[in-house]
Amino acid sequence: MKTLLNIAIIIAALATTSAFADAKVKAGPRKGLILDLGGKQAEFFVEKDRSISIAVYDAALKAQPASTEVITATAEAPTGKTKIEFAKKGDLFVSTTKLPDGEGYQVVVQAKSTPEAKTKNFRIKLQLHTCKGCGNAEYACTCDE
Ligand SMILES: [Zn+2]
Repeated sequence: MKTLLNIAIIIAALATTSAFADAKVKAGPRKGLILDLGGKQAEFFVEKDRSISIAVYDAALKAQPASTEVITATAEAPTGKTKIEFAKKGDLFVSTTKLPDGEGYQVVVQAKSTPEAKTKNFRIKLQLHTCKGCGNAEYACTCDE
């Protein structure tokens, strides 16, 4: 039932204005941050080696192989902006460069579900410690406070 409830919440979030949809953080099956690409969803996850992996799901969070999505990111580290490219690796997109040292800076992910779609920008504050409340990394924390 929990899954059905989650799907209902996702559908409700998609139906509301973007301001409301942005307010609620959604985490994916890998404990990453869900980015809504419109019809599809992408899960932003920072690996232990500081590379970023992105999994693709449909609107109901069913895993999809990486296909037509176009994803790039910019790490806005204090030492300067770093452009991050992604390559397909199995079913995932994996960054070909690692995140710069440190945390607390913003990572801007630019993603679209197809090359023709409108690019969506997602600003993610890179906080890597694990939240005690939900067990996710802080950038994907789903706690209400
Ligand atoms: Zn939390």
